[in-house]
Amino acid sequence: MQTTTADLPRGTAPARARPEVSIVVPVFNEEGSLPTLFVRLYAALDRLGASYECVFIDDGSRDRSAALLREQQQARPAETRVVLFQRNFGQHAAILAGFEYAAGDIVVTLDADLQNPPEEIPRLVEAARAGHDYVGTIRRGRKDHWARKWMSKAINIVRDRTTQIRITDQGCMLRAYSRAVVAAVNASPEVNTFIPALAYLYARAPAEIEVAHEPRRAGESKYSLYKLIRLNFDLITGFTAVPLQLFSMLGMVISAIAGVFVLYLAVRRLIVGPEAEGLFTLFGINFFLVGLALFGIGLIGEYVGRIYEQVRGRPRYLIAAVLDATVAREADSSREADSSRGAELAREPGRTAAREITGA
Ligand code: UDP
Ligand code: MG
Repeated sequence: MQTTTADLPRGTAPARARPEVSIVVPVFNEEGSLPTLFVRLYAALDRLGASYECVFIDDGSRDRSAALLREQQQARPAETRVVLFQRNFGQHAAILAGFEYAAGDIVVTLDADLQNPPEEIPRLVEAARAGHDYVGTIRRGRKDHWARKWMSKAINIVRDRTTQIRITDQGCMLRAYSRAVVAAVNASPEVNTFIPALAYLYARAPAEIEVAHEPRRAGESKYSLYKLIRLNFDLITGFTAVPLQLFSMLGMVISAIAGVFVLYLAVRRLIVGPEAEGLFTLFGINFFLVGLALFGIGLIGEYVGRIYEQVRGRPRYLIAAVLDATVAREADSSREADSSRGAELAREPGRTAAREITGA
């Protein structure tokens, strides 16, 4: 599972000592959860018996989250790095930034709202140490709204039938990845993606374990129905073209049936003569087909829109500042480290590094 700095793509290697475990936490308006998260997370990691770092990504929060992260970084500077986004880019973009920044051999992702208990991290690390380069999780007794669970089930079935990705519970973000898998994700230039699925594609020895799940204790879910639908389209469109092919096949079948039907009507017209009944049935069928056609056009639009975003090639996220005491200190002694993020940060010596607006 060990890789050297030279294996890492696109300036991924911060010029600092590599901890065994990196925890990546996306944060968006979580001021209610953060204080408890800090207490439980650092306590669980201190008991782990491994060197570790926590990489928090503030995804453009409008509450006190960024200030709380700053305080935590000052309280535990050796183990804490904070990446502050300029604005909200979404949970998966935040995790991507965390992946680019994390230096650990094992990278664990965790939600900030404590729905994933940090106390489960040692079990994930244990499975990763046993040689699994991808440790997925299945939420035991998932504590979410029934509509969310129902939607997840439906998407799980679609994903299972249409892609190569075999994940039991795709929605749970508490997962562990090896450095090699994280490096492969970092080398993938996808704009819209679904990290657990992408990482699964690159894993050689994936495993799954059951973990506890808790209800959200503070604040509300940061996913509106719109964001949730977009995310699920990211999952499907990012990993399969089967829905498009299904539509072409459906189109073929419907055309064939319609052809036979027209032929039948023509024969009937000759034998029975003109008829006007069945108008509403015809309307019914027509509306159904119009709906289907609109859905098909929309589906193509989902793919085309994503292709458009991809070819424009805009940055996936913009970083306003990075708070990392260790990089400023350690990289000072290794200035020759060229284009790495750490080296860039090191040009502001002696204090917590903060870099203005960067793309990735
Ligand atoms: N999150 C984020 N950016 C977003 C939405 C969510 O960084 O645009 C973070 C959020 O702060 C949390 C995690 O992603 O740490 C999961 O979000 P949430 O708990 O709202 O999702 P749910 O549990 O409802 O699926
Ligand atoms: Mg949550």
